[in-house]
Amino acid sequence: MDIILLGPPGAGKGTQAKFMVDKWEIPQISTGDILRGAVRDGTPLGLEAKGFMDRGELVPDRVVIGIIAERLREDDAQRGFILDGFPRTIPQAEALEEILTELGRNIDHVVSIDVDDEELVRRLTGRRMCKGCGESFHMVFNPPRTEGVCDSCRGELYQRDDDNEETIRQRLKVYNDQTSPLIDFYRGLGKLREINGTRTPPEIFSDIVSTLSG
Ligand code: AMP
Repeated sequence: MDIILLGPPGAGKGTQAKFMVDKWEIPQISTGDILRGAVRDGTPLGLEAKGFMDRGELVPDRVVIGIIAERLREDDAQRGFILDGFPRTIPQAEALEEILTELGRNIDHVVSIDVDDEELVRRLTGRRMCKGCGESFHMVFNPPRTEGVCDSCRGELYQRDDDNEETIRQRLKVYNDQTSPLIDFYRGLGKLREINGTRTPPEIFSDIVSTLSG
């Protein structure tokens, strides 16, 4: 199972990826998580990426393609993977095709989760993430049992630096301009599976399971 999760920020890619990890026991590979880790650790990669991320812009293709080329060669990715947040541009998608060809592999499904922009803004402005396990909450739609504390691991909740309205609008613009052309790219390859993302997470997941096995 080599799968791409495609969709705008706030569509629920991370949430669905976690369900998929549990069901199929293949890793979630999130370029956003890898970059945030590098920013936190203050590595050269993090220093290069931080400005782009804070402005809601894309980190240069060469940087994220390098990350993915290495990550897909690791042992845990040999049985399959779920790409969450990569590719985000046509050159990234083309580079991915080349990397996979070299590895003798092929994307099986591109799951495209669709949610309209105003709903995404509502979701992202209220989003809180767990520092420990990465679980996400929403202050109004899905609040944690104790304010500021993760229900699953008791970790501390925080708001991502880029989850403020101005940066959110910029990220949505970048998605619409640079990432949404991937929908036609993968439709042309016969790999696109379109999913309505305005339902509950378990409903969306059961739709994904039936779409991928159908
Ligand atoms: P995400 O967690 O997927 O929303 O990503 C957060 C930020 O990381 C994005 O707004 C970009 O600045 C950067 N980023 C993550 N993945 C990519 C990618 N595939 N290409 C370029 N930038 C990325």
